[in-house]
Amino acid sequence: MKISEIFTSIQGESSFSGLPCTFIRMAGCNLRCSYCDTLYALEGGEDLDLDQVMGKVKAAGILLTELTGGEPLLQEESLTLSTLLLQEGYSVLLETNGSLPLDAVDRRVVKIMDLKCPSSGMSDQMEFSNIDYLTKRDEVKFVISDRTDFDWAREVISSYGLLEKCKILISPHLSKLEARTAASWIIEEKLPVRLQLQLHKIIWPGRERGV
Ligand code: SF4
Repeated sequence: MKISEIFTSIQGESSFSGLPCTFIRMAGCNLRCSYCDTLYALEGGEDLDLDQVMGKVKAAGILLTELTGGEPLLQEESLTLSTLLLQEGYSVLLETNGSLPLDAVDRRVVKIMDLKCPSSGMSDQMEFSNIDYLTKRDEVKFVISDRTDFDWAREVISSYGLLEKCKILISPHLSKLEARTAASWIIEEKLPVRLQLQLHKIIWPGRERGV
């Protein structure tokens, strides 16, 4: 499979934020979001087989793992890798962009699915039928850049009954929207969602890779 990088860091997103985690960043993505912060992972990557990837994960010695990208579900091997990691006793998070089907993902994997807001330029690529495959342990993330994005997220949350289905994260794109503004909107609207700040960017500002 094509791998962009494998590294251990502090989980900066999701409800697992703050925990040490080994990340397997798979190369390649079918989307081109306006704010993408992993442009280096959109193409290329090193060819590694399952044994090589498992070897690196085991060497890191951390029981929490995340498959991320790029878009991991573009590569079928990500499904086999997830199951293998689970069999070996790892917890597995899957960060996915919301445009590819989730039906074949191992049910023990914690799915963290983006729903791309209008400012991403990718809203029309979302596969909303994926919501049927989410459970209470899964998470949906909205990256918001402005009030239009926030209102879009509110509308989707309401239309699809997301509050009853899974955890919900609202993540302000901090070069476009201050965290306090997003926080005040959440409070004003009494929206029971989690404000997410990208913790790894606070710990290691300006560092692009390996965090
Ligand atoms: S889905 Fe993720 S990796 Fe792909 S372009 Fe969007 S932000 Fe970048």
